[in-house]
Amino acid sequence: MTSLHNRHIKPLILAGLDGKNWHLQDYVARGGYQSLKRILDEKIPPEQVIAELKASSLRGRGGAGFPTGLKWSFMPRQFPGQKYLVCNTDEGEPGTFKDRDIIRYNPHALIEGMAIGAYAMGITVGYNYIHGEIFADYDRFEEALEEARAANMLGDRIHGSDFSFQLYAFHGYGAYICGEETALLESLEGKKGQPRFKPPFPASFGLYGKPTTINNTETFAAVPFVLAMGGEAYAALGKPNNGGTKIFSMSGDVAKPGNYEVPMGTPFATLLELAGGMRDGKKIKAVIPGGSSMPVLTGDVMMATDMDYDSIAKAGSMLGSGAVIVMDETRCMVKSLLRLSYFYFEESCGQCTPCREGTGWLYRMVHRIENGQGRPDDLDMLNAVADGIQGRTICALGDAAAMPVRAFIKNFRAEFEYHIEHKHCLVPTYL
Ligand code: SF4
Repeated sequence: MTSLHNRHIKPLILAGLDGKNWHLQDYVARGGYQSLKRILDEKIPPEQVIAELKASSLRGRGGAGFPTGLKWSFMPRQFPGQKYLVCNTDEGEPGTFKDRDIIRYNPHALIEGMAIGAYAMGITVGYNYIHGEIFADYDRFEEALEEARAANMLGDRIHGSDFSFQLYAFHGYGAYICGEETALLESLEGKKGQPRFKPPFPASFGLYGKPTTINNTETFAAVPFVLAMGGEAYAALGKPNNGGTKIFSMSGDVAKPGNYEVPMGTPFATLLELAGGMRDGKKIKAVIPGGSSMPVLTGDVMMATDMDYDSIAKAGSMLGSGAVIVMDETRCMVKSLLRLSYFYFEESCGQCTPCREGTGWLYRMVHRIENGQGRPDDLDMLNAVADGIQGRTICALGDAAAMPVRAFIKNFRAEFEYHIEHKHCLVPTYL
């Protein structure tokens, strides 16, 4: 455990939100749009904005954890044609529900962050791609865009400067795969949302074949705070290489599920306490720390781990999008894996054979184990199929399907073996 146990936990993006104070005047009253105005008033060079981002150690909050300042520096600023900025609010990973809360409760933080990004990278047009299964939040974001345009925080010659930025919302169609950035771009272009072969990467060949920078909603929403407090101060909120705060979506068997924004590096035990602890005082059994595609860890390992990219990686999983799924002692690990396997089988776009066929094989094998028809060699075969998928597909959905299988078997093998041998669950029904 670190000294963060005693650190005052103060959110940034979610601070002071009551569900009603999402309007522009509320955001301004909280100090909003000051970072953008200062950049424009003082004509701060774009390179300096990117330098602040680099100093902040802000890493992509959508799952990959790539350093934001570095990503922004890849944009060819002097490219003569159109360039695009895209926000990925296609939040579809089971367990993740933070981005919809940002556009619902603090949409102007995202708008300001995107405008700052556009300024830093010399971009004049941006889109926010919003998951197709959320409707009220999409409407809310459209309203916020109107407010920002009316206040000249978006549009032509923002805040009287010579910087112009047009930002639009785009409502997706609800496919999980469109959260993969190149599938998102295809969908945004009006095509079937299927991932592209890479390279080329979006920084050089993105939307309509033009240089494009894509960041997650939470990443953009953190940008105004980075600029307001300075990169180094933001970095100091967290741990080295893991700057600032992070929103964790706490779900599963906790007393108070919800979004909690805490400094990077906060112990998992503290986060669990914030979420009210285990529901009904039950014992913790397993935790998926970063969204359903990340490897599951045992409760004991998690209770000794901090919530930052490096600590979770050291423990054997990934921070991902920060979707923390907590499972108590009553949860059957075979049934849990069955749910996840079905999801990836269902959501595979079908472009590449290892993923299209492999996800079905995984699902059917776990299904037969759960239903008392497992065979002694099924666990080895599950691992072999996962081997055949991971790293052999166009996009990361293949890995996302394979990783949970390996981790569930590795950490809870005895439970799977019991299912196969006894044809029923190990978890006592009286719990
Ligand atoms: Fe589609 Fe799966 Fe291949 Fe990704 S890995 S492109 S989801 S078939």
